[in-house]
Amino acid sequence: MPKNYLHIWPRGKYMMIALPNQDKTWTVTLFMPHPIFLSLDTPGALLDFFKKNYPDAIALIGKEKLIHDYFNNKALPMISVKCSPYHVGSTSLLLGDAAHAMVPFYGQGMNCGMEDCVVLDEIMDQHDDDLEKVLPAYSKHRNPDAEAIVDLAMYNYIEMRDLVNSRLFLLRKKWDDFLNRILPKKWIPLYTMVTFSRERYHLCIAKKKWQDNIVGKLVKVFGVVGVAIGVLFTKTEAVHALSASFLAHLNSLVGKTLAAAAR
Ligand SMILES: Cc1cc2nc3c(=O)[nH]c(=O)nc-3n(C[C@H](O)[C@H](O)[C@H](O)COP(=O)(O)OP(=O)(O)OC[C@H]3O[C@@H](n4cnc5c(N)ncnc54)[C@H](O)[C@@H]3O)c2cc1C
Repeated sequence: MPKNYLHIWPRGKYMMIALPNQDKTWTVTLFMPHPIFLSLDTPGALLDFFKKNYPDAIALIGKEKLIHDYFNNKALPMISVKCSPYHVGSTSLLLGDAAHAMVPFYGQGMNCGMEDCVVLDEIMDQHDDDLEKVLPAYSKHRNPDAEAIVDLAMYNYIEMRDLVNSRLFLLRKKWDDFLNRILPKKWIPLYTMVTFSRERYHLCIAKKKWQDNIVGKLVKVFGVVGVAIGVLFTKTEAVHALSASFLAHLNSLVGKTLAAAAR
């Protein structure tokens, strides 16, 4: 497999991922509902399951190693924590996983913990380091964001294990890329907002909802009017030169989105 990539085998209700290590090995993890783990209780059952779901992985991992590792590692539950407030009086405060442990699928657990420190520092500045004011203000300010990233991390599990197989979902990603290219400051895809900006997590969710709404409307409007205008515009030579590739891209995106939505 290509090095330095996260590889995913999405299978609807479950998935396997391979994370690259610095020594060019891989750490492979199987995520699935506990009853499925319990049902794979013999080497034969495990191999049958892999032959059906991850046939290419058997050769990559090796039969012996697969059986050895599977039966020597206990399946563990994944935990999310939501709690409020994070402080006790003016003396104690929970930061990081203790306040908001999340499933690991957004790669934000550590980032969020570090951002906790930045936010706390900002609030300490606002209240001249008066902990009686700082700690309640921190709890109030941080809670909607911590809960939002816990939800986003779980959402990304569904995206990774299932949605990436959906044509409609992939087309929506193309819409995001397209709108981001023409409106780079206004239209920022959810993953980019969450991962590469200081946008508050709960506002990322609100903006994604707004974007979903707009894309839904755009697909309908462009589907009817845009294609007709495209045909008219492409008749004009000068405009054609400027707009042909733009319109072709747009028309194909709209057509594919409508076709996928109809399916
Ligand atoms: C598989 C996986 C992948 C991840 N990938 C990413 C990623 O790509 N990006 C990212 O940002 N985050 C990622 N994370 C999340 C990240 O690892 C955690 O969010 C981060 O380590 C939390 O840091 P923390 O200091 O809050 O808690 P911890 O790292 O859990 O530190 C708490 C410490 O407190 C100690 N402790 C506990 N009880 C006591 C006690 N009573 N007395 C003294 N010490 C105690 C523990 O031993 C531990 O050392 C991932 C997590 C997992 C499990």
